[in-house]
Amino acid sequence: MILSKKLYLKRGFFQGLWISFRYLLTVFVTFFKSRKEFVADTSRKVGLPILTTKNDGDLQCNACGLCIGHCPTNALDLKSSGEDTVDDFKLDILKCVLCSLCQDVCPIDAIRMSHDAPHANHAEGSWIIDAKEMSKNKVISRLA
Ligand code: SF4
Ligand code: SF4
Repeated sequence: MILSKKLYLKRGFFQGLWISFRYLLTVFVTFFKSRKEFVADTSRKVGLPILTTKNDGDLQCNACGLCIGHCPTNALDLKSSGEDTVDDFKLDILKCVLCSLCQDVCPIDAIRMSHDAPHANHAEGSWIIDAKEMSKNKVISRLA
């Protein structure tokens, strides 16, 4: 009688342990799975604006200046010698608030929001990036 009671208690003890272990395992798997999906899903992340290029590698931009005029933080700067030529196009990363107004007002889809956020390697000297840097990244789908 005493022996069977002891065995019964031991069985209950190990059953309880097993249930707790299974529960913990489920929690860990769910946590790491959701974390992995969160890290991998960058499709909805809005990054810095970039300049699109034609097939020959030239900028699409025709220097109309609409995006410059609409940027609420004056993050964009354009130098043009006229006749649709872009001499210099700059973006101040520290001023850009990723509002995407520049993308919305551009009539020829020459500037788009990317998924690229400023990187830690953007040191003090490179807070302002030029047209070359802005068009370096391949685009990606247009963000709504
Ligand atoms: S995303 Fe907004 S703040 Fe940034 S450059 Fe475009 S208009 Fe300016
Ligand atoms: S609105 Fe478009 S075409 Fe006009 S300056 Fe800006 S990027 Fe260039």
